[in-house]
Amino acid sequence: MVNKEIKPYYDFGDFLRKVFPFKVQKISVNAGFTCPNRDGTKGWGGCTYCNNQTFSPEYCQPNKSVTEQLEEGIRFFSHKYPEMKYLAYFQSYTNTYDAPDSLIRKYEEALAFPEVAGLIIGTRPDCMPDVLLDYFTALSENKFVMIEYGVESTLDRTLIRINRGHTYAESEEAIRRTAERGIYTGAHLILGLPGENREEILHHADIVSDLPITTLKLHQLQLIRQTRMAKEFAEQPEDFHLYTADEYIELVIDFIEKLNPSMVVERFVSQSPKELLIAPDWGLKNYVFTAKVCKRMTERQTWQGRLFTPSSQ
Ligand code: SF4
Repeated sequence: MVNKEIKPYYDFGDFLRKVFPFKVQKISVNAGFTCPNRDGTKGWGGCTYCNNQTFSPEYCQPNKSVTEQLEEGIRFFSHKYPEMKYLAYFQSYTNTYDAPDSLIRKYEEALAFPEVAGLIIGTRPDCMPDVLLDYFTALSENKFVMIEYGVESTLDRTLIRINRGHTYAESEEAIRRTAERGIYTGAHLILGLPGENREEILHHADIVSDLPITTLKLHQLQLIRQTRMAKEFAEQPEDFHLYTADEYIELVIDFIEKLNPSMVVERFVSQSPKELLIAPDWGLKNYVFTAKVCKRMTERQTWQGRLFTPSSQ
């Protein structure tokens, strides 16, 4: 539950401290996987907000192996914190999209490090075959395992519009299938997708509150260069509402007031590289934004779950 004395929401750091008796740090790994929403397996063209450039074969093939990437990351952090343990975060693209043997080889490459306490796997809800779920279930008996699903919206009309290539029902099904195996389950939502009004955005909180989600990541909609969405924005800017930082702070606070208080809120914003970002450019680092949210929640005398009711759907 939320400790309102410390943070007005359930923070990821507090969650990690509950799970681990030692300090842990995530290290992002690009294992060279691709995406089924671009090659026709699940869809063509990719999500409209996703930068096509990043799908060139050179970009997808990292120069460094999983081992090299982890060695570098561990070297960087272990200077300061020799006792630190690590979570290998398979973050880029769809990290469950390959032959199971090949996927498992990459995961095991990370787990071969004695300092690696577990895995976080980012993926799509329509990309979790039972054979992999069986592997993760067995693994989770002695390692930390979290599967993070890109849900993005609970409205199918939005998922069609942004060409996600899956429905909300598929997100719900993947989350329930994963969580019922006892695996930590994360979800990712984008707030401010075109065609969604404020009430619809806030209603996502009611809907996901009913799911067995461990951690939730919220991101503001960002317009990225050379995406289909950037083109749509240029043609029909009236379809988009680009939030100012202050407006978005009020939105996320309204959102987490409705959110189930047992859900960890891992982040409120994301930051794309400046050279790729069209808008909104708030120039705020993640920790600065988070501090602003906390300050404003204190001013508003509110906290996560203040307006949550289990039957709010
Ligand atoms: S956002 Fe994810 S699922 Fe969508 S096209 Fe990009 S990598 Fe694929």
